[in-house]
Amino acid sequence: MLKFEESARIIASESRYVAGGVNSNFRLGMGHGPLVFTHGEGAYLYDVDGNKIIDYYCGMGAMVLGHSPAGVQAAVKQQVEKGILFAGQSPVEYEAARIICERIPSAERLRFGSSGSEVAQAAMRLTRAATGRRTIVKFEGHYHGWFDNILWSTAPSLADAGPAEDPNLVQGSKGQSMADAEGLDVLQWNDLAAVEARLSRGDVAAVLMEAAMCNQGAISPMPGYLEGVQAACRKYGTILIFDEVITGFRLGQKGAQGRFNVTPDLSIFAKAIANGFPVAAIVGRADLMDMFATGGVLHGGTFNSQPVPMAAMVATQQALTPEHYERTSVYGTRLREGIKSIFAETGIKAQVTGYELMFHIGFGLDAPARNYRDLAHADKAGYARFAGALLRQGVRVLERGAWFVSSEHNDDVVDKTLEAVRVAAREVAP
Ligand code: PLP
Repeated sequence: MLKFEESARIIASESRYVAGGVNSNFRLGMGHGPLVFTHGEGAYLYDVDGNKIIDYYCGMGAMVLGHSPAGVQAAVKQQVEKGILFAGQSPVEYEAARIICERIPSAERLRFGSSGSEVAQAAMRLTRAATGRRTIVKFEGHYHGWFDNILWSTAPSLADAGPAEDPNLVQGSKGQSMADAEGLDVLQWNDLAAVEARLSRGDVAAVLMEAAMCNQGAISPMPGYLEGVQAACRKYGTILIFDEVITGFRLGQKGAQGRFNVTPDLSIFAKAIANGFPVAAIVGRADLMDMFATGGVLHGGTFNSQPVPMAAMVATQQALTPEHYERTSVYGTRLREGIKSIFAETGIKAQVTGYELMFHIGFGLDAPARNYRDLAHADKAGYARFAGALLRQGVRVLERGAWFVSSEHNDDVVDKTLEAVRVAAREVAP
């Protein structure tokens, strides 16, 4: 059983200058309090208590190659020697752009940024400029960053959410006001008729969605849903944006759009694109993207295409070969199936859904969720107890049920994980 006393001591005695001891609200929580890590290598994180922990946070999905991959580290060191920030162009950003545009079906052109939240903003602005319309349609339970104009209905309580056919816009944080939601409409995901009906009013600039819902749960699009939304967008002059911040480079080298074979007009990427370095991208149709250059649409950022993260990105992408996905998928699938068998053996009712390198466990669900409201019935407290029990066995998973797998989660790591899952499952089994 692992102990986390030194983490607790540091948080109690040294973290007072940082609000809550963490620099992102998403790092609050976990019954044991925030952990303090010293280093990461492969599938493992090492903390100040001397614990060696198998990590399925993987940098909230970013570390698709695991911690400290040699090729990425070397590329970064080399680039640091050459310079940090030029406020001009460098060859490495054009190399990085070429790789993404050759890989991602929707990417005729791109612009780099530093976080998923900010490229989501760029996409919204661009679609409003291109269409002359104001409304962006988003979906309940989908998260596209923490900014005031989009942090709506990301995780509403069922009491606040309103009728399923016409959901309420529910703020995600104190400090937002209804004025921030002006120009936003929220629908249930996976309901094609609802999208068609809303777009038919002719005032929607863009539909913004995760093509597979992975921020909450791991929910696949229903057969024909993505194609239907795309057709409705084309019919009513609406721009389709895929948020691939999680799915990008996890559901395959070409992202969710390659996996499901539906090419949106615009897409945004971040997280795994550069294995933990702050790189994001908005990519899409040349006629739209060129509006940033010649159409009067502003996109800025001091740190955009900073050469060091760009070098990390190129090295990451070079490692993300088709063979990488083939090999890593075998580990991810073995892990997922192993967990399912243990739940069956121990009598735990759960749905394990998703993909090879990203899946989700929903305790207490009778069937796989189709949308946020199905997922909202999961036993979150029960799963949090399981996550706590797993951590004490040396396996770190997100309390919201997501598991991120990297190429370092090999057979040996999967074996060790399944041993820990067995112990934790017995601890929380009914
Ligand atoms: N979009 C999705 C689907 C995400 O999961 C996230 C972050 O978790 C974001 C956008 C925002 O990205 P960032 O945290 O890099 O601002």
